Amino acid sequence: MRWSMGKLHVQWEYPKFDVEKAVGKYLMELDQCASQVLIMSPEYGEKGWLGDVVADSASLKTYANSRSEGFGYCYPYYLYAAAFALQLWLRGADNSNDSISRIPKEFAEVLKHNISDLIEKQIASIVCKKCNTIFCDANIIKKGEHESPSLFWIDEWRCPEGHLLRYEKGEIPMFSMVEIHNGLGL
Ligand SMILES: [Zn+2]
Repeated sequence: MRWSMGKLHVQWEYPKFDVEKAVGKYLMELDQCASQVLIMSPEYGEKGWLGDVVADSASLKTYANSRSEGFGYCYPYYLYAAAFALQLWLRGADNSNDSISRIPKEFAEVLKHNISDLIEKQIASIVCKKCNTIFCDANIIKKGEHESPSLFWIDEWRCPEGHLLRYEKGEIPMFSMVEIHNGLGL
């Protein structure tokens, strides 16, 4: 805050985030990417995921490279840095190493928006931790529900044995409801 010309001028200080430094730090600290990556797991602390989701690194790299926006538009900056670092890290994958790499939780945060798409495209599979079986999209029992009035939605995935793999309940923001309402000309 500073005084000028007798008036109070407030200078906002935005916290500075050095994307380049953050990307460099990820690449310095991570081990070389193996042929498979654990892209989602309860161990990453993301709510709603009870199964492990494993992706093939080479296909994941091709997926990101084929899209102009990589893993999607990421904001705030720390996620943008994570998305960029993830793409670079995948480029250096050792496909002869058949172990499964773990990722920082920020990478999981970037990838969670792509998981349904990755499973549908058979780039990733989901592992049921209860029956220890790997499933592709066709084997997952998906149930989506909209509560009435449709302000809430539920997304539920189960393995064929009935074990819960994913459970997410969300709320549709009111402004979206207004947009839907207006869009339908109601
Ligand atoms: Zn199961």
